[in-house]
Amino acid sequence: MDVSIALFTSDLRLRDHPVLAGALRAARRVVPLFVVDARLAAAGFAVPNRAAFLADCLADLDEALRERGGRLVIRRGDAVEETCRVAAETGAGEVHLAGGVSGFALRREERLRAALAADGRGLRVHDAVVTAVPPGAVLPTGRDHYAVFTPYFRRWSAEAPRPVIAAPRTVPVPPEVRSEPLPRAASLARGEPSPALPEGGERAGRRRLTAWLRTGVTGYADRHDDLPGDATSRLSPYLHFGCLSPVELVTRARRTAGAGAEAFVRQLAWRDFHHQLLAARPDAARRDYRTRHDHWREDAEELAAWREGRTGYPVVDAAMRQLAHEGWMHNRARLLSASFLTKTLYLDWRAGARHFLDLLVDGDVANNQLNWQWVAGTGSDTRPNRVLNPLAQAKRFDPTGEYVRRWVPELAELPGAAVHHPWRLRAAERARYAYPEPIVDLDDALARFRAARGID
Ligand code: FAD
Repeated sequence: MDVSIALFTSDLRLRDHPVLAGALRAARRVVPLFVVDARLAAAGFAVPNRAAFLADCLADLDEALRERGGRLVIRRGDAVEETCRVAAETGAGEVHLAGGVSGFALRREERLRAALAADGRGLRVHDAVVTAVPPGAVLPTGRDHYAVFTPYFRRWSAEAPRPVIAAPRTVPVPPEVRSEPLPRAASLARGEPSPALPEGGERAGRRRLTAWLRTGVTGYADRHDDLPGDATSRLSPYLHFGCLSPVELVTRARRTAGAGAEAFVRQLAWRDFHHQLLAARPDAARRDYRTRHDHWREDAEELAAWREGRTGYPVVDAAMRQLAHEGWMHNRARLLSASFLTKTLYLDWRAGARHFLDLLVDGDVANNQLNWQWVAGTGSDTRPNRVLNPLAQAKRFDPTGEYVRRWVPELAELPGAAVHHPWRLRAAERARYAYPEPIVDLDDALARFRAARGID
């Protein structure tokens, strides 16, 4: 075959890339194609933080391809129509694509297969690109997916990952194929990105990965919940955009001895777990995975206070402000702020998930929606009615109050753990701090939640 197309989606890298390797094996020349899809923008997924990261990723990928004699071809429009157009222009016989899990990705794959077939061209879908173990590769008897993590993890751990693929030395691209300019962040989404976003791209991701495996991962088992310690990998945006390969991460982490690496691999399995769940139940992006007949409250003011980090619970507010500033939030902070919204305020998990998706650089449908459902008790948690008390969480995971003082500067003068409960100060002293009163009483909120869920 003379020409094939490697259609890049959530896999913006050259190393360990079965799609690119497959396209290169199939033909003498390859079109590395990325379509800026108008449908994603229309569906509300084009948000400033991910747009900024994506623009970095595409520029980095283009540079890496140029170092190998190629370049990235950019088109705008509907991914299926544009891919077929490029195929017709170049006479490409095959398109190579990573298997996705979201409803959007699955529909795109189906439409592309049909459109290419109508033109006498083929679609090759590659597994283990977006996840380490493909959805459906491990299944419980008689079911189409695992609903509980622990048995999934047992089976997942027994799977041998495919060998890691080296980056190609050269990528010959047909010279005549037309490309639009690399998109700038401002052309991908309206609005200002958060002030402290990480740099996108495979190179930035690999720098972070190397440092993480060399020094960070050792202490991960003991410190991953330490809010001020910030001792997690922060690799999630690079995994979300596919700048790093999950297969490579699992393989390299398994080669690193110790409890830290083991705990890190387990978290990567959580990522695969949510992907296999969404692949089997695409409507879990919007609907309760397990119906609990919740009649969520509606309260626009409380929702706004939560979003803006002014609930009067410092650790919740710190979490929400970290999200706004960095487009990222510590996992423990995600857990406690999501529990606060869904169980303490008893507001619909979808409103929280939407806000997270608006800001998270790593925001993705599988991990975000299904983690939200896990916390709300409508998902795969085997203890759906557990409620995280924000004060207990704060004292346990931010015992010195450092995390809160970092993100809630109006309380920065309060020493140690006193920063977690400003409402306990005497009225005169309290008045010195321009910080809101708690928007809800925790005991009342717990009673309300228990009554709503019918718990004695
Ligand atoms: P590390 O602790 O270093 O973990 C390594 C990798 O494992 C992460 O990069 C991530 O890919 C994966 N991982 C870790 N924890 C989880 C988990 N609980 N579920 C799935 N994968 C996990 N993660 C996202 O990638 N995108 C999201 O949109 C997202 N939304 C979330 C919403 C809520 C309410 C909650 C509770 C969690 C959410 N997570 C999401 C999972 C988790 O919080 C982040 O993956 C993690 O905080 C990213 O930081 P890190 O890379 O330093 O993680």
